Amino acid sequence: MATDITKKTHETKLAPRRERAGWTYAPSPEAKDHVRLKGRYDLFIDGKFVAPHSGKHFATHNPADESHIADVAEGDEHDVDTAVRAARKAFEGTWGKMRGSERGKYVYRIARRIQERARELAIVESVDGGKPIKESRDVDLPLAAAHFFHYAGWADKLDYAFAGRRARPLGVAGQIIPWNFPLLMAAWKIAPAIACGNTVVLKPAETTPLTALLLAEIIQECDLPPGVVNIVTGAGKTGGALVDHAGVDKIAFTGSTDVGKRIQRAIAGTNKRLTLELGGKAANIVFADAPIDQAVDGIVNGIYFNQGHVCCAGSRLLVEESIHDVVVRKLSRRIEQLRVGDPLDKNTDVGAINSKMQLEKIHELVAAAVSEGCAIHQSSAKIPTKGYFFAPTFFTGVSQSHRIAQEEVFGPVLSVITFRTPDEAVEKANNTMYGLSAGIWTDKAAKVFWMAKRMRAGVVWANTFNKFDPTSPFGGYKESGFGREGGRAGLAPYLEMV
Ligand code: NAP
Ligand code: MG
Repeated sequence: MATDITKKTHETKLAPRRERAGWTYAPSPEAKDHVRLKGRYDLFIDGKFVAPHSGKHFATHNPADESHIADVAEGDEHDVDTAVRAARKAFEGTWGKMRGSERGKYVYRIARRIQERARELAIVESVDGGKPIKESRDVDLPLAAAHFFHYAGWADKLDYAFAGRRARPLGVAGQIIPWNFPLLMAAWKIAPAIACGNTVVLKPAETTPLTALLLAEIIQECDLPPGVVNIVTGAGKTGGALVDHAGVDKIAFTGSTDVGKRIQRAIAGTNKRLTLELGGKAANIVFADAPIDQAVDGIVNGIYFNQGHVCCAGSRLLVEESIHDVVVRKLSRRIEQLRVGDPLDKNTDVGAINSKMQLEKIHELVAAAVSEGCAIHQSSAKIPTKGYFFAPTFFTGVSQSHRIAQEEVFGPVLSVITFRTPDEAVEKANNTMYGLSAGIWTDKAAKVFWMAKRMRAGVVWANTFNKFDPTSPFGGYKESGFGREGGRAGLAPYLEMV
């Protein structure tokens, strides 16, 4: 019997849009049965885990399924006081006096132990914060260890770091970090501080305290003298108590611009030193002479990477007008290929939004963009019904005055804006209260340098985005804060020069 070739068979029917754009993968979950978490974590003060003064603990959740993971101590001002006193005692008794070459060995040991426990730490980072395992495994963990390695190397060379000046540690550093890179931010803060001879009290973010507490275990395992590193978990109030404590010599804060300003006001008139790493609204600028496919991948990496929970995320795409349509077409296709879902699946590109509150903030800004008349383009990825997720999204028809182009979304949402000349690109890139980072995509090195000189951004990437290295300083202009972390520049905020 002849086959009717005009009749559509099951195979010839068009697959859904998403499957046509990419490939489907079988689930590939990371095994987590080797991870042993305690049901309850206390504060880490003076080398020991101790119960909080209030006796209270709060729950930390997995944002991918809303399940309860563990209870964590709620530190109050009494606990902060005990921790600061322990840090002072350690500074005056052992750490501040120790030879740099000896301190360096401890810092090096922490780096090695992070590497040894990397798999476990990566899983806990993904479970507590929602980021895809491939990012915590391949980005956060190697970089966290690299920061300790880098600063271990500086510990005995501080007198040579700044020509003609001798370096002295400051004393006790109070350090407050956000939820987007919990272990990496702890490494950025603790490694330079203790390598320089300071002691620290660190306050992790309320929604992601677990890897900092595992780091406390590592610090115990590495036999650091008690009190050199203290970790006091809690919410914003705990951070406030640390900022206000008279026994702290320096505050290092990474977080939102609002809280940063509040901290700046709180310590005005005191002798405390301050560094602030705050928000961002980076421009990722694509010229018509750029390799477009590479640029599209750089755009994706810049904003959908880590669910857009990156202060230096390339959340504004400035694209040369002549290539706008082709970039938008390629980007639409590319976001269809991103796999959204279980952070512990090794194929997942976009994991869970860190908290319900953050998800609501993203929804609110996206709704505002739609009501302001921007055109929405969204991946048709199936979103899990439980947990906090948001599909990769971008807007076209965005003007600079739209909220979506001005406010930090801190989610996988991109605004597309066009320009015609390099001058216009610079003007639009700088038209924000922030100044943390930027990206430039072009075939011409001269254009990169011309642009970079004119942009008010702490980091400018050329033909790449979101690349980090412990040797490279990081920090902002304008309302993105002040002070630098990383590299030799990252030593200065923890030293007094004599
Ligand atoms: P956030 O609300 O400012 O919180 C940051 C940290 O400060 C948390 O540990 C928070 O505790 C604590 N905190 C809150 N209120 C405080 C107060 N009054 N005094 C002292 N500490 C207080 O920021 P977030 O929303 O968690 O983090 C996202 C922000 O961080 C974004 O704006 C992002 O751009 C910025 N960020 C910047 C960088 C950078 O290097 N520039 C890097 C990463 C993130 P709780 O968690 O308990 O509220
Ligand atoms: Mg959590």
